[in-house]
Amino acid sequence: MKSKIITLLLLNVTLLAFGQANIMDCVVKNSDLPPPDGVVYSSDPNLYLYGDPLVFNVFYWQVRDPNGGFGGQEFSQTKVLENIAYLNKFFNQYNIFFKYRGYDGFDTPANLPLYELTYDEELEQWVCEDTGQLDPNGYGFIDRCQYSQFGSWVESQGYKVSNAINIYVPYGSQFGGASFGSKVILKIDKLTDSVVFHELAHSFGLAHTRSNMELYSSERATRDPNGPFYYNADTAADGLVQTAAHDVFYDRVCGDGNDPACYPTINSEACSVDQYSMETDYDGRYTKPHIAWGDVVNLMSSAYLCTENYFFPAQVNKMRSYIENSYTLQGLMTDVAALYEPYAGIYTDGTPQVATGSPLFQPGFDYQFLNCYPDGGYPLPSDYYDTSFIYTDGGFWWYGFSKDIDPSNYYTIRHKDRYAIRIEQIEQQPRKCWNTGQGAIGGTLVKFNDGVLNTNVTIQPQDSTAINNPQFINNLQPGLYNVIKTYQSGETQENIVQKNNN
Ligand SMILES: [Zn+2]
Repeated sequence: MKSKIITLLLLNVTLLAFGQANIMDCVVKNSDLPPPDGVVYSSDPNLYLYGDPLVFNVFYWQVRDPNGGFGGQEFSQTKVLENIAYLNKFFNQYNIFFKYRGYDGFDTPANLPLYELTYDEELEQWVCEDTGQLDPNGYGFIDRCQYSQFGSWVESQGYKVSNAINIYVPYGSQFGGASFGSKVILKIDKLTDSVVFHELAHSFGLAHTRSNMELYSSERATRDPNGPFYYNADTAADGLVQTAAHDVFYDRVCGDGNDPACYPTINSEACSVDQYSMETDYDGRYTKPHIAWGDVVNLMSSAYLCTENYFFPAQVNKMRSYIENSYTLQGLMTDVAALYEPYAGIYTDGTPQVATGSPLFQPGFDYQFLNCYPDGGYPLPSDYYDTSFIYTDGGFWWYGFSKDIDPSNYYTIRHKDRYAIRIEQIEQQPRKCWNTGQGAIGGTLVKFNDGVLNTNVTIQPQDSTAINNPQFINNLQPGLYNVIKTYQSGETQENIVQKNNN
């Protein structure tokens, strides 16, 4: 006997039936989210640019099938670090940051019912029908009938880190992404897709801009509070006046807006639609797409895959306000100091360092590691708030990494002895000077015999006693030198010295 779950799915029939405009296929409904709060959010970006940085912990879970399989796909720490980098590279412009807290994984139950999503003509609803069979994929492949059960199941199993955003990564899903507050589902091939930003925005209280999704959130096109048509931009859909009432686009030369054959081609390069495109609001009133209001480019619209999607300032200010007032979200956050802590590797306070074991930092920021002193002053890294150390800026005495570093090089983002960390996305002040004072294990003195930088040189090897002598440079005869120190990590430090007579 078949049982039906009539569900809270409330799937938009048009969207599901035609798949139009639904490349991302987010399963979140505006009615799952806090209703519009009537606040008119500022569209001033300075509010968030000069606000406090907001930093979230993120933990990942690999979601496998009942036999431990992952659909033949690869899952690795590098994969989830790609997501952390992707999140930071986008959200940092809004003064929101993400701290990687690790990953784990689990097999899912073998006895889950296998549902089929069908349209019930009598009920005029999409329903989940129990086929009476068992789902061989468990939650490894999550379908539209399973995602809310999955959310409850992980809670019951303890597959959740309480102080972090938990990102669950199955190998497949019948949708692009899902968000339930602190829990987000993103299949493995969506980890670096703009659906990531869209789902996180749901977690941060942002709704779709769609005009016709559900009754309470049906938005009308007018932006004139005193106009002839009922104005509800501040209380419908996403509750934001800055974003347009958005439904579906269609080509008015082709025909009716309900005919999927008339949906226009989206220009994903320009994030635009063609000149014949119209859209409709809740009342079926036709309007030209509001490109300036981000109908296409807006991440919370139907989310076309533009080359560049973004949020509007009012959306960002609403998200940040929601975060700052949410007790639940506050519990998932950490402070900026956490971004200066490694996710792997250890600091040692004087035992020999090897390059492969030094502390590792997450990708997605522009890092500069700057030489810092005094030698031996910080056998373990200085406190985040202690900026009394000396550092050199530029020259030979630094190394760095781009936020766009290739995943194959993530393992090279390391904090080496004698360096402090600058994260350019946060501030210019370097932090966490680490200088064990072990000194160099040896070195070389290169004298430029002509007093200029050329190849006429005399080279003298130096032992550790000589090269570490604080008077080493003072004791040099007048001339031009390159003092090269070699450290246990294998790296070298070069210092061009012009020694004068005085
Ligand atoms: Zn969504």
